[in-house]
Amino acid sequence: MTSLDIHIIDFQNHLKRVLLAALQLLLLISLFVICDLAGISATKADAQNSYIGFRFGEITDTQQLDGLAGPATRIVVETSTIPEARLFLLENPYRLVIDTAHTVWDVPSLPKSGRLSFGSLTSYRYGNPDSDTGRLVFELSEAAAPIAAFLLPPNETDSSNASGYRIVVDVLNRGSTAFALARSALKKTPYLATNQLDAFMSENIMDKNYSNSSNQPDQKQNTNLSGSVVTLNSPEQRPRRWVVTIDAGHGGKDPGAIGITGTREKDITFKASKLLADHLNSTGQVIARLTREDDSFIRLRDRIAIARQHQADLFVSIHADAAPNAKAYGISVFSLSDTASDKEAALIAERENKADLIGGPDLAVEDPLAANALLGMFQRESMNESTYVANSILEQVRSFPGGDKRGHRFAGFAVLKSPDIPSVLVEMGFLTNQQDEANLKKNSYIDALTKKIADAILVYLKSSSRK
Ligand SMILES: [Zn+2]
Repeated sequence: MTSLDIHIIDFQNHLKRVLLAALQLLLLISLFVICDLAGISATKADAQNSYIGFRFGEITDTQQLDGLAGPATRIVVETSTIPEARLFLLENPYRLVIDTAHTVWDVPSLPKSGRLSFGSLTSYRYGNPDSDTGRLVFELSEAAAPIAAFLLPPNETDSSNASGYRIVVDVLNRGSTAFALARSALKKTPYLATNQLDAFMSENIMDKNYSNSSNQPDQKQNTNLSGSVVTLNSPEQRPRRWVVTIDAGHGGKDPGAIGITGTREKDITFKASKLLADHLNSTGQVIARLTREDDSFIRLRDRIAIARQHQADLFVSIHADAAPNAKAYGISVFSLSDTASDKEAALIAERENKADLIGGPDLAVEDPLAANALLGMFQRESMNESTYVANSILEQVRSFPGGDKRGHRFAGFAVLKSPDIPSVLVEMGFLTNQQDEANLKKNSYIDALTKKIADAILVYLKSSSRK
């Protein structure tokens, strides 16, 4: 876990943060090793769009990737005019597909298919699934899904080459669940956002001969190029165990809620998390991993980063609550939402999010991933999925005191903000309620409760249509 202890950023003012951002950008650019696979021939200037080249790079700036295990592979595809591009993912073997409307192949220096050996990329092929679409398929050696995708106008500073419009896709293996979430989200919204090009287009659209005229018949290849492509065995064909990251709330200098008799939330959550892990591991179908193995303080964003490093299929944060009203009791299961389901849920999220303040100001709170539209899309998919997990848990804990009372609720919990991992937070009870606290202090009670939560997790994992 030492790799996560990188709270070296301790600047005191905004200016330095801006400088840091600039430095990061510089680093990113300098680490972007471009392997030019294709000489760019931009002679084609007819009405249709054409692929005029592609190249790959590696992004190793892990600061930028925020806890994601890098390096990411950057794919840059160049087209002669503004591309109307769609992205999607396929499995068995893993593939990234870029479809571009009214597009033909115009890379004379390259065949339409070939092997690759760069990052996760093992081969590419081009074809026309229908007469209006140019399709580039990249075969991947692992579950590498996009973490960013955007369009760029031609690089005008590069006067030596007449470069094209660029479709940029960064892919990174974050595990098979992250891949499945991305695949499912892209199925719903496959179109690449063109907003970055909007300004450019509005300036240039008038003096270019953009046309949506139909394809050239002679380019209608409908190519099946699989003969020249190595078929890969998916690495997931071995018996797979799901990975569940269990997050014991609070820890170290952050005790969490304090009970009537002085019970500390961090002790209860740790005990419950270890028992939950035992129950899950004993099924033989799950590898349960903890965000903390001892009484240490871990920031909320680092808890997410740990789950990402685990390439977890599921993230479950364990808590016990406190309330001003001593009568409040029962079990709640929360998932992420922009708006809270109720006032109390909002307050609980606010209180749990304050855990980070105890560690001093965290000046790196702006998540660079939050600004990424693609990940925003994956986040929604992950939130949908989390709802199923929450319901599965509530189904199993009904028989516990208050288990059917509070239900599934939503709020903006910082620790649930993984765009690539379904995440829920369980408040096992109120330490400020006499009966709840007495129960949570009993090993037998925690054991029985976590057994039910483990059962619920397994039910969810097995029923998940993605598996
Ligand atoms: Zn808590």
